[in-house]
Amino acid sequence: MAEKQKKAHAIMISMPYQGHITPFVSLALNLASKGIAITFVHLESVHHKLSKPHHKPDLFSDARQSGLDIRYATISDGFPLDYDRDLRPELYWTALLQTLPSYVDEFVGNVIRSDPHSLHFLIADTVYVWPAAVARKYNLLNVAFWTSPALVFSLLYHLDLLKERGHFLREDDEAEIDYVPGVGSLRIRDLMSSLSKRGDVTGNYLFKAFQEVKKADFVLHNTVEEVESDTLSALNRYQPTYAVGPIGFSGTSNVAVSKSLHAEVDITKWLGSKPAGSVLYVSFGSVVQTSKGVIGEIAHGLRLSEVNFIWVARAHLTASGDADVLPAGFVEEVEDRGLIVPWCDQISVLSDPAVGGFLTHCGWNSVVESMWCGVPMICFPVTYDQPTNRKLVVNDWEIGIDLGDAATLDREGVAEKIRILMSGDASERFRREAGKVKQMVRDAVEADGSSVNNFHRFVIDLDKKLRST
Ligand code: UDP
Repeated sequence: MAEKQKKAHAIMISMPYQGHITPFVSLALNLASKGIAITFVHLESVHHKLSKPHHKPDLFSDARQSGLDIRYATISDGFPLDYDRDLRPELYWTALLQTLPSYVDEFVGNVIRSDPHSLHFLIADTVYVWPAAVARKYNLLNVAFWTSPALVFSLLYHLDLLKERGHFLREDDEAEIDYVPGVGSLRIRDLMSSLSKRGDVTGNYLFKAFQEVKKADFVLHNTVEEVESDTLSALNRYQPTYAVGPIGFSGTSNVAVSKSLHAEVDITKWLGSKPAGSVLYVSFGSVVQTSKGVIGEIAHGLRLSEVNFIWVARAHLTASGDADVLPAGFVEEVEDRGLIVPWCDQISVLSDPAVGGFLTHCGWNSVVESMWCGVPMICFPVTYDQPTNRKLVVNDWEIGIDLGDAATLDREGVAEKIRILMSGDASERFRREAGKVKQMVRDAVEADGSSVNNFHRFVIDLDKKLRST
């Protein structure tokens, strides 16, 4: 077969968490819509979880029926299926990073041997430490997909600079960081937990992953050029860098693929009974755990604020694993204006006209989804990239309020910030700014928008490189 007729084929592997799976699935659909074949790899444990609420043996069967070439495969993570991976997420993550490489290596080797006529390449989550080694071993192009903001990428990328200036692991320091290329000024409290806190077990893996990502051929970012332009153009000087977000809202494929790891409670009817802009949506994402004390202060703050709210109180919200983490009597006391659910379709909730604010842990997908819907935020970051994401929301884009952190959180403060965000002059200002950001983000995925153009450019650059190596 002539080289020109060979089909490009991506082997895609994401981290096994909702905040990574969702953008990876969207990226797969968008690439397949451009004629690239995909083998999408899930861990067996993720497949098991996904197939429960959706009752589908193969998540991409509808996509295939619509003509997209997306194959689906599962690999083991080395743990038994009934091992509870959500109980101690950081222990599992660090163990996974040791067990997974050999399974990936074997899988990639088998795919390549079974299909010698395609131009294979790798698209892996940037937080993994193994992609460069696997790509080198099998002579594959290596595409890193980063599912957090470019600002976080840049800070991890410039770890050496932070160390040189003595700003690494200095949690209590108020020092300003104003020397990272393409990054304005920020404080140590804005750094992600592994850069500021001692004993963050995920740090060493992330730092290794960021040494490895320097060897990637291309880096895709789930962000928007217009909202992080300086950071992205500085990164582009080191490596081919493409802002293609928000990936879940761009692209031409209309195929619905089940991404949610949990069954969703339908709250459309409840929202329909509430006045426009009156409901605060509260969620801490899919992974992070906080304390019963924090949950208690937030619950009392919601009670005192007197606003309508929906709260996603999912399983494992605290490290204790207790199912019942809300204060006694809380549910009964707020039942006329508060709804507590284990999981919901967040995007449709944020899109509902009844929702006027989002109290969020600032996971990047939550931030982006809120921007997409023009909903201002109250920020309560817990760990990982969340403090940095808060900085973008509160200081740079001015579309949210800072709720502080666990040590200083108190119910009166929570109630006051909720009132500020949900009503009054400041609320108007936040909504106006959120409306502007919403427009910017939506423009990026319109025909000729920056993310659409960047994605197109990436596909062309990738194809050229695949055919020339
Ligand atoms: N999510 C959801 N339903 C819920 C809570 C969360 O669909 O009840 C989704 C949310 O839309 C987002 C993802 O879970 O896409 C969470 O990702 P994020 O990056 O915000 O936080 P993480 O879970 O990674 O900390």
